[in-house]
Amino acid sequence: MASSTLTLMAFFAHPDDEAFGTGGTLAKYAAEGCDVHLVTATRGEAGEIVVPDLATPANLPQVREQELRCACEIYGIYPPRFLDYPDGLLPIIHQGQAVGKLVGIIRELKPQVLITFGADGIYGHYDHIAVHRWATIAFELAADADCFPDQLDGVCEPHQISKLYFRVLSEERIAGMSEDGKPPSVMMDGVPFSIVGQPREEITTVIDVSHYVETKLRGLECHVTQVGYDNLFGESAKEVLQEPWFREETFTLGRSRVGWPEEVETDLFAQLR
Ligand SMILES: [Zn+2]
Repeated sequence: MASSTLTLMAFFAHPDDEAFGTGGTLAKYAAEGCDVHLVTATRGEAGEIVVPDLATPANLPQVREQELRCACEIYGIYPPRFLDYPDGLLPIIHQGQAVGKLVGIIRELKPQVLITFGADGIYGHYDHIAVHRWATIAFELAADADCFPDQLDGVCEPHQISKLYFRVLSEERIAGMSEDGKPPSVMMDGVPFSIVGQPREEITTVIDVSHYVETKLRGLECHVTQVGYDNLFGESAKEVLQEPWFREETFTLGRSRVGWPEEVETDLFAQLR
């Protein structure tokens, strides 16, 4: 099933969601000549402002859009697209409208591979979980001959994505992040939500991004309002580049129209080249 252009589309909730677990993958496939697109549901205006003189709550959406544009340039991928939804409110967005927008983009870009969050949204962030749901539904509906006339403006030609991958962290990685024996967590609404790891046997796909770790780090550094000027690693950034967990990115194949791998894959386009 050869295709002249391999197209990878990533769909996440916020600017910077792409950076930690998929920045290397986006850069690698772009460098190899694939068309790589990133879509985010929001501009991340509910995020914090780690460097106060860089943004105000009023202009944070524009600032974070520019940060994501910076990151996409560094990865070497197309400029980002936005669904224009409000950060923090995705669970109450009109789902038919959101899925319709996503289906329209899928039918336009015609990716063979789509990557998004898994069902746990890494740490249960409700926007991440909404994005997972929309992407999973859009995977099916983009291939449906129905035009969804209420939601779409004339983009009726169906497109079947071949594979849908979920970005996941391994249990070993989670164990490595824990401090004082406590599971690592992210504070949300005043409550520490544990980061969820996957058992190794559920990880179908491991992408070696070791040649792209500098690019990945520079992409992360574009998100200054979120990570500060020293990024998250400060003086140990050079060491981070050598860490095995920074040099590979892990996925679980969630839907496939081209079969299932018998052993761990090292390429999102396996079966498609
Ligand atoms: Zn996020």
